[in-house]
Amino acid sequence: MSGAELPRSAETVIIGAGIVGNSLVYHLADQGKDDILQIDKGPLPDPGGSTGHASNFIMPIEHTSEMTELTWDSIDQFDEVGVFNNSGGLEVARTETRMAELRRRVQSATAFGTQAQILGPDEVKEKVPHINESIIEGAMYTPDAGSCDPLRFGEVMRERARDMNALTVSANTEVLDIVVEDGAVQAVETDRGTVAVTGELVIAAGVWSPKLARMAGSKIPLYPVGHQLISVGPIEKFEEQEGEINYPIVRDMDVRMYERQNGNDLEIGSYEHRPLLYDVDEIPALEEAPLSPTQMPFTEDAFEDSMEHALEIMPEILDDPEAGIRHSIDGLISITPDGNPVVGPVNDVDKLWSVAAIWIRLAPGIARQVARWMTDGWGAMDTDMHGLNVARFDGWGRTKQFVRERGAEEFSRHYGIIHPSEQFEAGRPNRTTGFYDRQQELEASFQESGGWERPRWYESNADLVDRYADDLEGLHRPNDWDATWWSETILGEHLHLRDKVGLIGDTGFAIFDVVGEDVSDYLEGMVIGRMDVDPGSIVYTPALDSGGGFRADLTIIRLAEDRYRIVTGGSTGGDVWQWFSRHIPPSGSVRMVDRSSALATIGLWGPNARSVLREVTTQDVSNDAFPAFTAQDIEVGQVEAWAMRLSYVGELGWEIYAPMERSRRLWDSLYEAGQEYDLRPVGTGVYGGTGRIEKNYRLYGHELRREYNPAEADLTFHGVKDADFLGKAAYAAALEGEPAATLCTMSVDDHAPNGGERRFMLGGEPIFSTDGEMLIDDEGRRSYVTSANTAPSLGKHLLMGYIPTTLAEAGNQFEVLYFGDRYPVTVEVVGNQPLFDPDNERIRR
Ligand SMILES: Cc1cc2nc3c(=O)[nH]c(=O)nc-3n(C[C@H](O)[C@H](O)[C@H](O)COP(=O)(O)OP(=O)(O)OC[C@H]3O[C@@H](n4cnc5c(N)ncnc54)[C@H](O)[C@@H]3O)c2cc1C
Repeated sequence: MSGAELPRSAETVIIGAGIVGNSLVYHLADQGKDDILQIDKGPLPDPGGSTGHASNFIMPIEHTSEMTELTWDSIDQFDEVGVFNNSGGLEVARTETRMAELRRRVQSATAFGTQAQILGPDEVKEKVPHINESIIEGAMYTPDAGSCDPLRFGEVMRERARDMNALTVSANTEVLDIVVEDGAVQAVETDRGTVAVTGELVIAAGVWSPKLARMAGSKIPLYPVGHQLISVGPIEKFEEQEGEINYPIVRDMDVRMYERQNGNDLEIGSYEHRPLLYDVDEIPALEEAPLSPTQMPFTEDAFEDSMEHALEIMPEILDDPEAGIRHSIDGLISITPDGNPVVGPVNDVDKLWSVAAIWIRLAPGIARQVARWMTDGWGAMDTDMHGLNVARFDGWGRTKQFVRERGAEEFSRHYGIIHPSEQFEAGRPNRTTGFYDRQQELEASFQESGGWERPRWYESNADLVDRYADDLEGLHRPNDWDATWWSETILGEHLHLRDKVGLIGDTGFAIFDVVGEDVSDYLEGMVIGRMDVDPGSIVYTPALDSGGGFRADLTIIRLAEDRYRIVTGGSTGGDVWQWFSRHIPPSGSVRMVDRSSALATIGLWGPNARSVLREVTTQDVSNDAFPAFTAQDIEVGQVEAWAMRLSYVGELGWEIYAPMERSRRLWDSLYEAGQEYDLRPVGTGVYGGTGRIEKNYRLYGHELRREYNPAEADLTFHGVKDADFLGKAAYAAALEGEPAATLCTMSVDDHAPNGGERRFMLGGEPIFSTDGEMLIDDEGRRSYVTSANTAPSLGKHLLMGYIPTTLAEAGNQFEVLYFGDRYPVTVEVVGNQPLFDPDNERIRR
């Protein structure tokens, strides 16, 4: 309705009428919103964004459960509207390495509920007769793939919202500015007048989103990049076919390309080329763009290799003298620093949401969840969205340069074989401590978490592998994949820490101080654990959402009557900050201060930890004076620090916090004092990996996920307190009822059941009965390995995973699928019982 009058105000304003904005207006209306204004600067139904010229295909295979869920929901929605064409899809391999990766794709597909199988070259040829099967090793086939019509879908979504009298659409209307007052959005200024926003403003503006965020004084970390697409036709062979697509979509993974029939054309898309980056301010205006603003002129030279690769795989089609290139573009898509969408409320401006960097295949599914989030809150969602939360880049990952460089690297990984522990190179080091150079001198192998550089292991400890050779027998990983981003030195460090003492440069936590007269009541209402504890006490507790799903995994310390400290994983810092800050009472009686960049953390753990600490402090650090699970101020050499006596590796010791500028001094004091006690620096390979799994400690995002409740995770030791708290009703009900699944720890019985190399699972593998039946609980949740790691003190490789409760019994045997083979595993413990030091004596000694 371009010519119609622009309303002077609206409760919810959505900027963008691409697949994302269109999906969202319907889902918001469906959730009961009835005063929605959708604005787009272009004409409808194709306003000139990325949605108008995409290839529109959907492969429902991802290496994470949430992305698979969101893709499936989108397919169902496209299908319900009648715009989904189920063609099937093939990912072909030109190399053996890729074949292995395709077996891993089948593994993930199976774990998360998509049909997939490996085919040989001849079977591929049967499905796609025009493929040159002589250059491929085989393929992964999924019958569930297909293509959709996102423009028609968008029309239907808008019509439905309008039929509910919920939506006004204003096309040909450009947002020029966003008015923010008192930290919150008030209005949008457009070329057709100003609209007051009485509720929330959503930026669903695809590649333009950073520009709109800038208008509001915020940032949305995405960068526009060209993705090359050509359309070749007419193809005689396709003439006799009816409909848009009759052959499976082909992804030619090794050359990072795809080919898909579209009527009597063949569309060839490529991610093989160098990243073709465009600044958001370079995107032309509608009237200046020859095709549309997001169809940039084709960069010929960047496509040369891709054309050759396309000719190799489909020569029969592309050699057709009648066929010519009908269309070629550098189509703009959004890249983010980690490849995931950027969704949710932005933390620095109230009433402003980002719903951006979303593929068509994910858009309707994400829109459904975001609409619930916006109306009924986080707890109303079905899917765990914390990995998509735009807040995850707060404070460290939002500058233009970083997003550009990291985004370019992310683009180059598209269709790549990405190891679960894969590290980025661009933009590093980003966040470093005062002892970073000390760790470099000790030949640390760094990994990044929340922007922080953290050593995973130290090459200088390589001698420990020899020292503990007898204990490590049988734990060596001969396979390259299993040993990528890993080192046997981690196992040596682990045993040394359990034997002597380790120093873990642990900075990288999110640390929030929460203060004020009502702080105790406020926190009491946020978490399961009791907050009315003495100053100096440490409470380990999950926070739940209103539906009883895990929302955060926290250590909370009472510092004083009116002051607490929340410590949690750095990579979820922005997300947790958002959760807590948005629940703060409006009275101003509680305040939150982010100390994450101000405080460095060093862990000192192992039997000799107390002796080392005694060398550098005059304070009494005996068990009586400084008991386990308490915190105190402490002088370490000349540094005023603060220490907690607890341990994520299950050992005697302290987590010591000091101002960042004194962190090197703190490191040096402890390191030097430790030499007498055979202290070694130890990496996070032990801290978050081997040490954790031996103690069965659960990890947020892995074991602690929205779809499982505390009873299923066996984290019920707090009981149900009297005070009301978020998620209490659901939590209490979960404790009363019978859990459908129970978190178990299993060990691998045979690492090479079919002979050959011994293999070591890394997590994400589906779990089967010994009869080959996939384990699925009464709520339809499929069992898969949530964490996997080696337990050197036990000489075993351990796996954690939720098993249907009826089958969750110690001694029960199952199988896990890993790269196409089945491996026998046995349940070691059911629930939260550590395998190593089951009575937790070491931590208390
Ligand atoms: C060549 C190509 C092939 C692709 N193939 C696939 C595929 O096969 N499968 C898949 O899942 N995805 C594919 N994609 C990705 C997909 O197209 C995008 O991820 C998706 O369309 C993004 O949708 P959107 O709604 O976020 O953005 P858009 O469709 O770009 O919509 C954003 C809207 O915001 C409007 N807007 C911007 N600024 C303003 C302003 N100031 N005022 C008012 N309105 C404004 C724009 O006019 C635009 O209409 C492909 C992309 C390309 C380029």
